[in-house]
Amino acid sequence: MSAVKSAEMRKTMEWEDNVRRVVPYVAGEQPKGENIIKLNTNECPYPPAPGVARLAAELDCSALRLYPDSGAAPLAEALAAYYGVKKEQVFVGVGSDDVLALAFLTFFNSGRPILFPDVTYSFYDVWAELYRIPYRTCGLDENWHIRPGDYRQPNGGVIFPNPNAPTGLLEGTETVEEIVRANREVIVIVDEAYIDFGGVSAIPLLKKYENLMIVQTFSKSRALAGLRVGFAIGNEKLIRYLNDVKFSFNSYTMNLPAQILGAEAVQDDAYFKEVRDKIVATRERAKKTLSELGFTFPDSSANFIFASHKTVPAREIFEKLRERDIYVRYWDKPRIGNSLRISVGTDAQMDALTAALGEILEGK
Ligand SMILES: *Cc1c(COP(=O)(O)O)cnc(C)c1O
Repeated sequence: MSAVKSAEMRKTMEWEDNVRRVVPYVAGEQPKGENIIKLNTNECPYPPAPGVARLAAELDCSALRLYPDSGAAPLAEALAAYYGVKKEQVFVGVGSDDVLALAFLTFFNSGRPILFPDVTYSFYDVWAELYRIPYRTCGLDENWHIRPGDYRQPNGGVIFPNPNAPTGLLEGTETVEEIVRANREVIVIVDEAYIDFGGVSAIPLLKKYENLMIVQTFSKSRALAGLRVGFAIGNEKLIRYLNDVKFSFNSYTMNLPAQILGAEAVQDDAYFKEVRDKIVATRERAKKTLSELGFTFPDSSANFIFASHKTVPAREIFEKLRERDIYVRYWDKPRIGNSLRISVGTDAQMDALTAALGEILEGK
């Protein structure tokens, strides 16, 4: 047999031995079509602030000739003013996934395992694997709550969302503070992707704790998932370290339109609150109808509900909804394999969901 042939027959080629192999994060489907009801990725069902469309139409394209501000200054300044912190305390990224990925690279280098909940945002273990950061998961209790005592073991850092995803459950500021206080030698990241829908941000704790970093996104409550804007707030030194890594990776990640339009979305606080209040009202209405249909769920403080039915398996409901062009999120995973994560849409979308569920569950 020729050398070429035998090399071909080996399971992998030699060059593949040195590939960084990863199992990528799987995002929710993005189905295309007119009459689809998309309740699977927690996007906002309403458009962004009207000023965003106005500024997009007025955009001076000759400005695109130049590189944008590498620190996204217009946006960082708007966020600093909004949250009452210094602009040096704000780091802006291309979605909070970008911010979180850079934070893993910057802060989790001790070689000790980082800690996060067993049921949580499914990107955390992907980044840990990508960067070869050891990690350990801490089991949520039987009511899906974080047990703060679990975060007292030796570790190389902590990350958790608050409210948690996909449960939607909010932890009180005391629980967050307890975890931050117990871990002063490492960085604790609180991922507040859903905090605007009913929680109290941990931002005030930054005055007391240097090891805390808070991450938020424009993708959910600010209706700008397509623009890709996320940010972190922390003490100046920590944000400087994050910027050093970012500038060593790719300086100009956030394009000029995103900086301008993102800043505009922050300015229009009245619109932001109006949309948020509408979503919260629809969520509370959806909790009632889902209960009437025989679902149980943790009491969500987010823009989604994590529901399981008392008799019908989640997978079956997921598939039957999909046949009707209604998309919700389902994971075939331990602990959560009988739950559906249903994003809160408009009242009309939720009514259509209720009607479809009524048919699917009839007689069951
Ligand atoms: C949606 C989400 C993010 C990331 O959102 P971006 O669109 O990248 O800003 C981060 N964390 C959690 C928990 C999320 O649900």
